[in-house]
Amino acid sequence: MIDRILFNGNLITLDDTERRISALAINDGRIIAYGRDEDVLPLATANTVKENLDGQTVIPGMTDAHIHWRWTACAVQEVDVFEVPTKEVALARVAERVAMTSPGEWIIGRGWSQSIWPDPAFPTAADLDTVAPHNPVCLHAKSGHVIWVNSAALRFCGITAATPDLAGGQIQRDATGQSTGIFFETTADLINPHIPEPSVEQIVEYMKTAQKLALAAGLTGCHDFDGPECLRALQILRERDELSLRFVKNINMDWVEHAHEIGLRWGFGDDWIRIGGVKMFADGALGSLTALMLESYVGQPNNLGIMVMPKEEMRAAIRKASANGLPSAIHAIGDLAVRNVLDIYQEIRAEEAALGVSAAARRHRIEHVQVMHPDDVPRLAKLNIIASMQPVHATSDYLMADRYWGARCRWAYNARVQIDHGAKVAFGSDSPVDPFEPLGGIYAAVTRRRPDGTPGVDGWYPESRLTVAEALRGFTTGPAYAAGMENRLGKLAPGYLADLVVLDRDLFAIPPEEILDVRVVATMVGGRWRFGGI
Ligand SMILES: [Zn+2]
Repeated sequence: MIDRILFNGNLITLDDTERRISALAINDGRIIAYGRDEDVLPLATANTVKENLDGQTVIPGMTDAHIHWRWTACAVQEVDVFEVPTKEVALARVAERVAMTSPGEWIIGRGWSQSIWPDPAFPTAADLDTVAPHNPVCLHAKSGHVIWVNSAALRFCGITAATPDLAGGQIQRDATGQSTGIFFETTADLINPHIPEPSVEQIVEYMKTAQKLALAAGLTGCHDFDGPECLRALQILRERDELSLRFVKNINMDWVEHAHEIGLRWGFGDDWIRIGGVKMFADGALGSLTALMLESYVGQPNNLGIMVMPKEEMRAAIRKASANGLPSAIHAIGDLAVRNVLDIYQEIRAEEAALGVSAAARRHRIEHVQVMHPDDVPRLAKLNIIASMQPVHATSDYLMADRYWGARCRWAYNARVQIDHGAKVAFGSDSPVDPFEPLGGIYAAVTRRRPDGTPGVDGWYPESRLTVAEALRGFTTGPAYAAGMENRLGKLAPGYLADLVVLDRDLFAIPPEEILDVRVVATMVGGRWRFGGI
């Protein structure tokens, strides 16, 4: 039996031979044969569906190796004010949403940044009141460190001139002490807990919408870093046969003891939902200047960032997880954070080796690896640690990185040196921090330029650019290895899952700047077209 044959295509296998083929045969969700049309077409049986690709390019399905799927799904429902050029555009988008929303219901949005507006002053509650007098509104800034609310939200949350600031934050106030509607850092906690949480059924619905967008972008899977409600919603989708992306579900430290207690190990589940590793935080982030650095931030002589988890504690947590069959995935942005994590992994690897546990059996990762001291660059490869990186962060962050890290940026957002040393890399987006478009990630990795072309033809630190093949592997074979699915995911070859993406042009045959114009024609997961068709 053969369900389906795709033929007359330009199929990029990414298998060891790197060869191009024109046809493949699929049965029961897997590729069972590939080659030339004349080799594959004769395999057709009476009920085989034959589909002519008309010369279109096909690549293996892409996986986002670092995503916050629940937050991404919720963000899709929110008012999109991502980098809107003016305050007026933000207000117009809120007004549109108000027209579709019952009075009293909350309206949430995300992504504004007043620093890029013609008038870079912070906006106010009064601005929002003009378009949303009866709905509480909360708009998160792109940085994630400021929120902008209206008067209905202030009333709902009981904020008055008497409300005190919280440690580590500030309410912006007018001359009379009233909130202007802007809350910095921790004071967002005066608002956020009042916003009703979506029910699990609502999250399921949001995920259905987000899933369509992800498939349309060419994703066939994700490695998620959100909490238990994300796992719950994914399982509900799976029960209803409505899950069409494959998920690796990582476990955050908040719940890891429960995972240990019930005996969860890496890889538990199936090819649709499986358990990944334990997520921990070594430090903060560049945007908030809390990434842990060996030397201070430019212009901030006393700031070395923040160590979120003490080394002793992290070592113990990684050791316990490893003993229980779980690898770790550790957020490390600053060069000292990366070094600390590598030091700990070095000890853990030695302990694992003494116990006869191979590196392939514990696929430890570092998430972001954003800036490194050059001495540490070869260590991921040596220790067999996966570099989980987000190429789009290089271009979205570069101005900030140049400003605060200066010459250290030579070793920042640098998957190039990791690949050169032989480390395995897995690429993602950290959505909703940046959009989850893998083709946008490939473009960023290959050009080191923003979509608008800045910072110029050669890109930011051009020596860090990747080839198209390297970038594509970062979204295919890399995440497959990180998931322990390298024998059935990330390539087009017999025995592999039939996850693939049809593109309207050949990524390898176009000038790199054209990658952003490539359109996803169709996406297949598990042998079924889930988006588009041919
Ligand atoms: Zn993240």
